[in-house]
Amino acid sequence: MSLVMPAPDSRVLDRRAAIVAALCAIVPGEGVIDEPRRLKVYESDGLTAYRQPPMVVVLPETVEQVSAVLAYCHAHGIRVVPRGAGTSLSGGALPLVDAVLLGMAKFNRILSVDYADRVAVVQPGVTNLAVTEAVSPRGFYYAPDPSSQIACTIGGNVAENSGGVHCLKYGLTTNNVLALQVVLIDGTVLRLGGGHLDAAGLDLVGLMVGSEGLLGVVTEVTVRILPRPETARALLIGFATVEGAGQCVADVIGAGIVPAGMEMMDRPAIHAAEAFVHAGYPLDVEALLIVELDGPAAECDHLVGEIAAIATRNGATTCRAAADEAERMRFWAGRKAAFPAVGRLAPDYYCMDGTIPRRRLPEVLARMRVLSEDYGLGVANVFHAGDGNLHPLILYDANRPGELARAEAFGADILRLCVEVGGVLTGEHGVGVEKRELMPVMFAAADLDQQLRVKAAFDPPSLLNPGKMFPLLHRCAEQGRVHIHGGALPHPDLPRF
Ligand SMILES: Cc1cc2nc3c(=O)[nH]c(=O)nc-3n(C[C@H](O)[C@H](O)[C@H](O)COP(=O)(O)OP(=O)(O)OC[C@H]3O[C@@H](n4cnc5c(N)ncnc54)[C@H](O)[C@@H]3O)c2cc1C
Repeated sequence: MSLVMPAPDSRVLDRRAAIVAALCAIVPGEGVIDEPRRLKVYESDGLTAYRQPPMVVVLPETVEQVSAVLAYCHAHGIRVVPRGAGTSLSGGALPLVDAVLLGMAKFNRILSVDYADRVAVVQPGVTNLAVTEAVSPRGFYYAPDPSSQIACTIGGNVAENSGGVHCLKYGLTTNNVLALQVVLIDGTVLRLGGGHLDAAGLDLVGLMVGSEGLLGVVTEVTVRILPRPETARALLIGFATVEGAGQCVADVIGAGIVPAGMEMMDRPAIHAAEAFVHAGYPLDVEALLIVELDGPAAECDHLVGEIAAIATRNGATTCRAAADEAERMRFWAGRKAAFPAVGRLAPDYYCMDGTIPRRRLPEVLARMRVLSEDYGLGVANVFHAGDGNLHPLILYDANRPGELARAEAFGADILRLCVEVGGVLTGEHGVGVEKRELMPVMFAAADLDQQLRVKAAFDPPSLLNPGKMFPLLHRCAEQGRVHIHGGALPHPDLPRF
């Protein structure tokens, strides 16, 4: 594996047999996996360019077991990588060869639903879609809807602060989680937040959401559930220029309209999706918007008219409202299948995730086209246009020597561009190993130091998910981000490379 990860601790590896025996005593039965053949299943996550087997996999079923496993690892200096469904696109669940991989798949129960208070209490291994399925017979749903919702878990969503098409109107995971049960590395079980919108004390739920498995292991999640809107209407709007589409997005938001979703695709993505699912997309446009409105029927009808007028003023060449539910689903089918559709254009693609201010979209796309030519690699763009979250899909062939490295360098340049225009390194996929080296592009030394202090407050020996999110320190030093006073390195407990 080309990626540099914390050096394996030989003192831990030498004790592997004893560690496996101790873990078997804590999680008896089928709960511990240590055969090399079965460990292969866990060697990677959604960032498949990187893989390495864990030392051992543990699949606990109770909070007591999670607590005991963590306390044991803490007492013996063993690293731990939490894992949900392994769909992370930033390598957040990538194992370490000397670490315990703590799989939360058996925490798969919906514990309670309270329709009066509109909350559900679920275990972290429940899939995102299963929450909606559990409450839909009563007309409710869980709003954050990552495209991976059929597979990804609520625990993973909490760790990555995941988003989806409907997060423009209803917020990301962080806006839909009210309380958490978390186990710290020393085995302490904490309850954070409450069953209502505000909780006493510091917002530690907010701190935990998006912490990428570095602060604690989530063992229970209280989420908000919402009543299904009365109506949903979708518009398909094509533009001859990306500038026109970008301005239309800005004008819709500027007019005070908050659609349930506002997604954009560029020409390569439109053509790939249309060839794949025959959604009825126009092929003579440079950019396509899918705008969805939800709420009372009269409000949706009114807003459809308003948005059509804004689109026309911005030079839309086609504007079609879905005639019925079947057509609305077809509009979305193309967008939802855009990733696999783009997967047919090249042997491999690398999905990036960055966020920019909406009004900079045309400029960013133009500069991305220049980068695409410079690197000699194609790129298709699919994005949550309403909130400025870009997902460029860089096309490459891993079998051609050097192409993966070139795709990664292209991706890093796109993320630098996002930061340069006032955006951020990630919209919803997290930092993981993928973007950790770019953290100093966005954060000053003081910012990174504060974040490391928060990490140290929850996990002083830095045993939880090491090698993720924070840049390797020699790179920080190269970039002038680590200041060494009196010869003493800050955070001496952190692994150096
Ligand atoms: C095809 C595809 C489409 C995707 N679309 C989207 C999208 O639209 N929006 C989006 O936001 N993401 C998307 N993703 C990325 C991914 O699905 C999300 O990041 C998801 O939240 C990961 O959940 P998971 O259960 O697979 O977590 P994993 O991949 O197993 O882990 C992700 C991170 O969470 C940590 N973690 C997992 N469980 C716990 C726990 N119980 N306690 C503490 N830490 C934990 C891990 O250590 C790791 O750092 C997509 C991925 C794929 C493959």
